[in-house]
Amino acid sequence: MTKHEELIASDYRRYQGEDVDVYFNKEICTHSGNCVQSLPEVFDVKRKPWIRADREQANQVIETIKKCPSGALQYVEKRDVQ
Ligand code: SF4
Repeated sequence: MTKHEELIASDYRRYQGEDVDVYFNKEICTHSGNCVQSLPEVFDVKRKPWIRADREQANQVIETIKKCPSGALQYVEKRDVQ
């Protein structure tokens, strides 16, 4: 199973970007707010879709996802898939 398949099977939703796809599971999110504070252009709960992966550099998006305390945010880099 690819990471994408595992995440989808675990009820994550995908938000596609050019270089990185962001995955989010709202059942796991503990609403710490880390993501929206770190990268408000990418993570904005007042917007639909609330995640826009291409609004910042992919490495910044990944660093922010790694700091998500609950694991509700995950990512798959496009170059990993090819
Ligand atoms: S950093 Fe993770 S746990 Fe915190 S609000 Fe964002 S998705 Fe939810």
